[in-house]
Amino acid sequence: MPATDLDQIVNLCKRRGFVYQSAEIYGGFRSTYDYGPLGSLLLRNVKEAWLRAIVQQRDDVLLIDAAVLGPPQVWEASGHLANFTDPLVDCTNCKNRFREDKLDDPTTCPSCGETGTFTEARQFNLMFKTQAGPVEGTGADAFLRPETAQGMFTNFGLVLQTSRKKPPFGIAQVGKSFRNEITPQNWIFRTREFEQMELEFFVPPHESERWYAYWCNERLDWYHRLGIPSDMLRIRAHDDDELSHYSAGTADVEFLFPWGWDELEGIANRTDYDLRQHASHSGEKLDYFDPQTNDRYIPHVIEPAAGATRAMAAFLLAAYDEEEVNDDTRTVLRLHPRLAPYQVAVLPLSKKDTLTPLAHEVRTMISDRYMVDYDETQAIGRRYRRQDEIGTPLCVTIDFDSLDDHAVTIRDRDTMDQIRVPIPEVLPAITERLGF
Ligand code: ATP
Repeated sequence: MPATDLDQIVNLCKRRGFVYQSAEIYGGFRSTYDYGPLGSLLLRNVKEAWLRAIVQQRDDVLLIDAAVLGPPQVWEASGHLANFTDPLVDCTNCKNRFREDKLDDPTTCPSCGETGTFTEARQFNLMFKTQAGPVEGTGADAFLRPETAQGMFTNFGLVLQTSRKKPPFGIAQVGKSFRNEITPQNWIFRTREFEQMELEFFVPPHESERWYAYWCNERLDWYHRLGIPSDMLRIRAHDDDELSHYSAGTADVEFLFPWGWDELEGIANRTDYDLRQHASHSGEKLDYFDPQTNDRYIPHVIEPAAGATRAMAAFLLAAYDEEEVNDDTRTVLRLHPRLAPYQVAVLPLSKKDTLTPLAHEVRTMISDRYMVDYDETQAIGRRYRRQDEIGTPLCVTIDFDSLDDHAVTIRDRDTMDQIRVPIPEVLPAITERLGF
């Protein structure tokens, strides 16, 4: 049973060192989170799984890493300065603020329950503005990017020149984005600072429909392949009145969160809007000349835009399980081995000096290939439970017999089955079980 209550995951994550409230020693900075020793590994693995599928396993996508700080010209061309707004309403009774388009009932305050107490909606720009350099003034204005996508559009020409790719091809990026959200909520689902994994896939205009359908399927399948059950995933096409003015089609990959279906990722057919805008604002040519057909055209763009931190929340919720074992409740995170913070735990049965050198030898051997947790405190049963709770797929136990038979025990997180394996065969046995 996946988690049905967000608190189950929030508590586990705090207790085990996945996610902390930011600046907690000062009372916490609202809706901002720090990723602890396990959370930072899990988040890294989510991003690596995305990079593996989007960049490593394909020959038509290139990776970039663009700046977080940007000048106003970029955001003027992209339309963010004018349009990246959410409708803000204030409740005149309890003084709370809400995003009008996310209210179940736009006439009733969800906080105090009063009806008819909302102000008129104001359009609130979500970009964080700052200044670059020591001199204040409009020339020094800079913005923290609210999405990674613009870096792919502004660098389109340079990437095209240096890579010699031709459409269809993509530019991908993973990194932090910042939005001054009116109502950040639901833990790491909606925060003001978060990480995105975005692909801009440039295609000949007449192929855009086909690639849009392709990426919708591909992205849904990625979550599925990493362990989210199909009954917790769906793709939802936007209605015409939800579409941005430049979009020829948008669909969300949605996940069944404890509060209902909600967006994990958006896939949009952005036409040639972005390249056209940047070409006209910058005066640079952002098009493609096909030497075979002598055609010059502005590619259309299919954009799968995912949140790494939001995906991490979904993977945790889907992986959570509790089961009864010998009249005890066992909590297990059934994370995909590629996502689990540690793939292997090395556990010497006792802290006694006689076992330590061999245990370290085994740890060194495995950690060359996999992330390993080494733990020698507490009774072995409690250590297994701890590893279950943080999602470690395999435990390798070194006991006193290991000194004589030069073999160790491998225990499986999901089945709790144990097998004895000679030390020289441990690494291939782990690889076989993890599947990589
Ligand atoms: P919403 O309607 O929920 O505000 P959006 O449709 O504006 O989101 P996009 O601009 O399409 O979101 O961003 C792409 C992805 O980035 C989202 O699907 C989500 O996974 C992630 N994302 C966007 N905003 C946030 C946020 N404030 N916190 C965490 N992740 C976010």
